[in-house]
Amino acid sequence: MYPQAIEQYLAKHGYDKINLKAVLFDMDGVLFNSMPNHASSWHKVMERMGFGLSEQEAYMHEGRTGADTINIISRRERGHDATDEEIKAIYAAKSEEFNKCPPAERMPGAWEVLQKIKADGLTRMVVTGSGQVSLLDRLNKNFPGIFQKELMVTAFDIKYGKPNPDPYLMALEKAGLQPNEAIVIENAPLGVQAGVAAGIFTIAVNTGPLPDQVLWDAGANLLFPSMPAFNEEWETLRRATTE
Ligand code: CA
Repeated sequence: MYPQAIEQYLAKHGYDKINLKAVLFDMDGVLFNSMPNHASSWHKVMERMGFGLSEQEAYMHEGRTGADTINIISRRERGHDATDEEIKAIYAAKSEEFNKCPPAERMPGAWEVLQKIKADGLTRMVVTGSGQVSLLDRLNKNFPGIFQKELMVTAFDIKYGKPNPDPYLMALEKAGLQPNEAIVIENAPLGVQAGVAAGIFTIAVNTGPLPDQVLWDAGANLLFPSMPAFNEEWETLRRATTE
């Protein structure tokens, strides 16, 4: 399965091999089990505003910036973009709703695989559309010794969020890497699209309610059913991408 997926990637991009130096992790739905809270918060707030957005649809928008999500729904339901004031108000209400939820736990398997990746001497990066100010504190508390501030890409760094490749291109730039020197770990279709568009071998981990096919259709090079499954397969994957 891996050799075939890797061969296809190499042929498409004209590389001889994946020369793995860094693993680029999305955050929500990959490192933290935070997506159920995000999806229910979006649903509640949008309904209150008179917009239709099911929890299932919220998962399809996962990875977008808040403003992009709000405008897509506004255009669909009213035929025009939301005003800046509306975007601010809706996003603030969504954040308030989200903050009422119990704090999301670490995704099972995430800590285990990150320790292996660190022990293998590979760089760990976080690439997220999230703009929470306390992000780094939270990462350091839950994943001590794993991530560094200089090697993170957040909503503050980028103009065009996922599914644009920019967040992942910026990650490569920050770490001084070529696309074939990294792999991306993503759980959402738009995140997978962003990794693929940046020319990086992109692994989907399906931790949510969407069918696998949505992630394959987004262009995933490989798919695992869960983070523990990714952790189980790490050694095989590492050998296939570093030797
Ligand atoms: Ca995600």
